[in-house]
Amino acid sequence: MKIAVITGAASGIGAACAAEFAAKKYQVIGVDIQQPVEKPTADVFLEYHTVDLSKMAQIDEFVEKISKTIDHVDVVVNCAGLTIVKPFQQMTEHDFDYVIAVNLKAPFFLTQKLLPLMTRGEYSNRSVVNISSVHATATIPHMASYTASKGGISALTRTLALELAKVKIRVNAVQPGAIQTPMLIEGYRALYSSPDVNLEECIAKDAENIPAGRQGNGKDIANAVLFLANEENSFVTGESLVVDGGFLARLSTK
Ligand code: NAD
Repeated sequence: MKIAVITGAASGIGAACAAEFAAKKYQVIGVDIQQPVEKPTADVFLEYHTVDLSKMAQIDEFVEKISKTIDHVDVVVNCAGLTIVKPFQQMTEHDFDYVIAVNLKAPFFLTQKLLPLMTRGEYSNRSVVNISSVHATATIPHMASYTASKGGISALTRTLALELAKVKIRVNAVQPGAIQTPMLIEGYRALYSSPDVNLEECIAKDAENIPAGRQGNGKDIANAVLFLANEENSFVTGESLVVDGGFLARLSTK
């Protein structure tokens, strides 16, 4: 039985990862602060836990609970995340702490606390996949705490790849570009706050700047996560795989 713990499983990329892992015969343990936004098919989740990942006590409680029902974990997908869009000068300590807690501290400690389950029994292929962002490499104004968290998760991915190689666990990241999920829409709403702006038009116009000619979808990222978790790619570790339709590869001429 292959078991995957997937955070952020209620929505967007995490929900797509849960569906795709389940389709590949993984038993999926979903984690999120909210219930699934769209009702998943009955066979997606083995277990589903509502956890506020910004709270260490809830992470502990979650790990304690699943340790009673399962005997190992093969894959951890650290996907839960959020952004707060504000000018640097207006970011409060709470804004900074909350974004870092969910996007960086939770993957750090959830992975640490799941290690006993990840190193249990005989295994040939276990791995962690962190969802970073193109913002770890290049960014835009008003995303300072988010960008810091995503730079952090890509750096954490490299150091954990080195440390966990000793226990035969690979650690990789995916850096998605613009993916059509509730977070992307919220981000546009915050960036283009004027009521005169038509968000759908903005999103469609921005797609023209992506070499692939479109924003991505959850499945585009779930496929990359599955690739990194796949046994056949057992020599891939410490990698941050950019999945952005070519966006970062391009030099702007404007
Ligand atoms: P989303 O808003 O659809 O999903 C994020 C999920 O994280 C939500 O279900 C939310 O409830 C959960 N979450 C937030 N705070 C939480 C908390 N305290 N505890 C537990 N769960 C919590 O957004 P998404 O686009 O699917 O984002 C998933 C990941 O992908 C995030 O890490 C995000 O930074 C990353 N990402 C998204 C994009 C994009 O364009 N959508 C691009 C790059 C990276």
